[in-house]
Amino acid sequence: MSLLKSIPKVDKFITNKTFEGLSTTLITKISKEVIANLREDILNNKIQNIDENILVSNVLKEYDSITAPSLQTVINATGIIIHTNLGRSLINKKSLEKAIEIATSYNNLEYDLIEGKRGERYSHIVKTLQNLTGCEDAIVVNNNASAVFLILNTFAKNKEVIVSRGELVEIGGSFRVPEVMTQSGAILKEIGTTNKTHARDYEDAICENTAMLMKVHKSNYSIEGFTSEVDFEEIVNISFKNNLIDYYDMGSGHIIDLPFNLSQKEPSILEIMKYNPSLLSFSGDKLLGSVQAGIIIGKKELIEKIKKNQLLRMLRVDKITLSILEDTLNSYLKNELNDIPTLKMLFISLETLEQKANTLFEKIKDICKCEVIKTQTLIGGGTTPNKKIPSIALCINDEKYKANQLEKLLRKNNLITRIENEKILLDFRTIQENEIEKIADIFNKVFN
Ligand SMILES: *Cc1c(COP(=O)(O)O)cnc(C)c1O
Repeated sequence: MSLLKSIPKVDKFITNKTFEGLSTTLITKISKEVIANLREDILNNKIQNIDENILVSNVLKEYDSITAPSLQTVINATGIIIHTNLGRSLINKKSLEKAIEIATSYNNLEYDLIEGKRGERYSHIVKTLQNLTGCEDAIVVNNNASAVFLILNTFAKNKEVIVSRGELVEIGGSFRVPEVMTQSGAILKEIGTTNKTHARDYEDAICENTAMLMKVHKSNYSIEGFTSEVDFEEIVNISFKNNLIDYYDMGSGHIIDLPFNLSQKEPSILEIMKYNPSLLSFSGDKLLGSVQAGIIIGKKELIEKIKKNQLLRMLRVDKITLSILEDTLNSYLKNELNDIPTLKMLFISLETLEQKANTLFEKIKDICKCEVIKTQTLIGGGTTPNKKIPSIALCINDEKYKANQLEKLLRKNNLITRIENEKILLDFRTIQENEIEKIADIFNKVFN
């Protein structure tokens, strides 16, 4: 009972010198909890004496844990370049430094420096996109999901949008074409079957309430076997003949041809632009390799209509996004593709990957049994579904841990790996040069 009487009072406890300089509000809140727990423990006979130093240290531990940043860096050793769970595309440091300069200073975000009057937020990327893709006009929103929503809402509210049943995509659960369509106010007109859709299916479905013919990139699946789909070129032609809008949600969208013959099945934005489409949209942080954004390019009169939609105000991007995006697009214009980390990882040679793998092998071979192997990985991010690309990995053969045990231990050190055939693989396609030393340190920690 006397122990209960000696429980410190919160008011007095928080004046402890150790808490000087820390947030009194937060220290008080945590102290109340720690002291309440202490009371419980005493009532349950769990402790026999009160040590104020232990209480202080418990408060500090909680304070540190609450104020530690939740968002942390990890090493992506999965080999998946556009890993949605790990932040998708990496942003070039130089682009970010540029953005820091813009964001920490006043800037001409919506100011025309020549005319001395209000300018347009989107103007900063239009010229670059025109030069890059040959589009008439362009606009940028928060992400590609917003782009899809905005386009449907602008042109197809209470009107029909014709989509093939083979393209009613779900991406990551929260983006499903039929549901986005409903939310936007558009009416989905499904045509064809899962495996086959023909040009006449589009033609037959057109009625006076049709607004648009839409194609959706099959981002995370492929349909094999007895199949046929209508090329976007033909969809553009049918739309043109019927005075309708054609729109391709490209999902990822890439500007330059992909390696490993991937472009045969996945035509680039430039290839698609040759068909003179009404509207295209794609993500900023998939294969384009920039910041999270949704980019819409197409006919000027249509982009003008989108600009008049009130929704745009809710989906608009910040100066930081625009600055980074402008810088990435400039890298394409200047053909400085090595400045785009996603492309650098995609185009890196197997020899370079092998060199990196050998560097790590030399550093850890004495503490853990491993070997450099050839492997295959995926680009990820719904870019080229089911298409494997070659890579090089360090395969961990050590018996000390089972694969899932080791995976967990490495993960606790923010090293994310892949398990194949009960073995841990460190895939070098996504491991950065400056991470090799860090990985060696983590292995030293885990194996010693
Ligand atoms: C990824 C993707 C989207 C969504 O793009 P976000 O930039 O993630 O919003 C929409 N449509 C398709 C076909 C996609 O692949």
